[in-house]
Amino acid sequence: MKILKVDHIGIAVKSIDEAKKLYNGLLGLEHTGSETVAEQKVTTAFFPVGDAEIELLESTSPDGPIAKYIEKKGEGIQHIAFRVENIEEALAELKAKGVALIDEKPRRGAGGAKIAFLHPKSTFGVLIELCEKEE
Ligand code: ZN
Repeated sequence: MKILKVDHIGIAVKSIDEAKKLYNGLLGLEHTGSETVAEQKVTTAFFPVGDAEIELLESTSPDGPIAKYIEKKGEGIQHIAFRVENIEEALAELKAKGVALIDEKPRRGAGGAKIAFLHPKSTFGVLIELCEKEE
């Protein structure tokens, strides 16, 4: 498998509108777009930083994964995403090497990307997302 770069850092927030005052207003990052991914019960907002992005995540429902994350751990960094060349190949290779996967098969993320999460029990407590994007 080949990791191309850190694609983005996902940050769980209660309110994108509130958090935007920091990332856009105070830090001056451009807000390039937002997208709701209904099946994940999340709205995402992207703020490019150099070659990577900050991805703010706001739950669309009190029972969504981001709402549950904030309930347990508070707002903050929720995951780190690595861009890979071929996500199916990367998942197969990691599985064969004993890494616990949350997603055995890629699902659809924001921007039509293919994404999959590795289980934090195999990754020293970090929720790692793999993503593959057409660009
Ligand atoms: Zn992400």
